[in-house]
Amino acid sequence: MAWKKYADTQGAHAPSKALYEAGVVPINYSAWPLEQPATQYAALSADIDADVVVIGAGLAGSSVALHLAERGIKTVLLEADQPGAGASGRNAGHIQPYLSSLEPLSAHKDGGRKFVDYFTSHRNIIVDLCAKHGIEADVHQRGMIDAAKKPSADLEKKAKLWQSHGYNIDIIGADTLKNMLGTEVYHYGLLWREGGQVNPYLFTNGMVSAAVKLGAQVYADSRVVACEAAGSNWRVRTATGSVTAAQVVICTSGHTGNDFFPELQHTQYPLVACGLATRPLSAELLAAINPSRSVFTQYPAGLYPIVIDERNRLVSATIPGMGSAQQADKYFAYFLRYLHRTFPATRNANITMESYWTGMTANSSHHYDKCYPKLYQVAKGVHGLMNFGSWGNLQGPMMGMSLAHAIADGRLDDCVLPIEKPVAVRFPGLFETKIRRTLIPIARLADRFDLT
Ligand SMILES: Cc1cc2nc3c(=O)[nH]c(=O)nc-3n(C[C@H](O)[C@H](O)[C@H](O)COP(=O)(O)OP(=O)(O)OC[C@H]3O[C@@H](n4cnc5c(N)ncnc54)[C@H](O)[C@@H]3O)c2cc1C
Repeated sequence: MAWKKYADTQGAHAPSKALYEAGVVPINYSAWPLEQPATQYAALSADIDADVVVIGAGLAGSSVALHLAERGIKTVLLEADQPGAGASGRNAGHIQPYLSSLEPLSAHKDGGRKFVDYFTSHRNIIVDLCAKHGIEADVHQRGMIDAAKKPSADLEKKAKLWQSHGYNIDIIGADTLKNMLGTEVYHYGLLWREGGQVNPYLFTNGMVSAAVKLGAQVYADSRVVACEAAGSNWRVRTATGSVTAAQVVICTSGHTGNDFFPELQHTQYPLVACGLATRPLSAELLAAINPSRSVFTQYPAGLYPIVIDERNRLVSATIPGMGSAQQADKYFAYFLRYLHRTFPATRNANITMESYWTGMTANSSHHYDKCYPKLYQVAKGVHGLMNFGSWGNLQGPMMGMSLAHAIADGRLDDCVLPIEKPVAVRFPGLFETKIRRTLIPIARLADRFDLT
């Protein structure tokens, strides 16, 4: 099939409402694949062996494969679709260099010290991997701004905390915000200098290409349908082949509804999110909207995060209402109204939508700020690395690297994530109901009537 960008969400060939709700509309609805798809990989068509088989080529699985291959471990990466087709090729492109709440880390044996140290030491991992492997993924560290309408003790506390970890953060006022963002709406904010943006589809595919160069084998259109014990090994089967390996790493995230190890799916609170991109904007408009081209989001609700990509498009994401994830025009209209309220120059401009899509996030808690990735052991030699919530751009590659190094060293306990047994969450629909039915609609009203 010829590769084609899609914006049509209503025509005869538009995806069904169910596909939008499940976050699995075809990946070429996402803004991030450019005019051409990345390298397309063939399906597995033989019975082969490896040291480690990784299932799922998103940010997490691609990083595991890359870092295992770098250590000379014989690695096979199996992907149901093509690399980056899950949440990783559909996200909002923000690189958030900090952690929202440290509270859940108190459950780690050392109170989370190892995790926070690793996170802070590797917070530039995306830029570093791109430089090291020559990955072109429109990555920039032009800063990330949390913009608020009034001073916030919460933001100030956050700045102090991360400054104490060596972060370069400016607390900025109305003048700086006006210069950087081109709007007078915000009066207080944080500028995280190490924050930035990435094209997550290109980055994921870049990690996969780098893994292949280092000897990893990658098979796409190869959905794993079974994972069976074979002596002291595991045989991981697809419809047309199998891989036998001593270790299996499952990185299927929000797409974990598999017949094998179904307990993993029960560990998560799923939440669908939608993304949209405008058509490229004129230089004149770009001088008025966020001239600094930093990444920015609004405090407290972050309803309209904005990235300007290399094609001069505005890319944003939000959480759609219950049952209305397919309503592209509705969410684009919200976004436009926000632009009009915030950047007067946009009021008479013809800003139109180029792409609209949805994706599925998998969360480990029903509190947004408390969603941390998890490392599960489902059987001897079989681990699941998943549940990255809304912040997998940084944590996916980072935790993937930590796990790969721990496997390569034969010391799984060295992974910064503690190994847990999968435990089913209670009321898995709770998070979705809370966010989609209540919190987001209230936040939209508050923002519209200037109550934030
Ligand atoms: C709209 C949206 C906006 C977001 N914005 C941001 C953001 O700005 N910044 C940020 O850091 N994060 C953001 N996120 C979150 C981020 O995208 C995720 O945390 C991250 O992509 C998760 O990566 P992953 O590798 O765990 O999962 P995925 O990318 O979902 O990868 C899982 C892969 O497993 C494959 N798979 C599933 N089952 C099988 C099987 N049986 N066999 C083989 N393969 C299988 C799937 O096809 C998929 O490719 C956003 C997410 C969405 C949806």
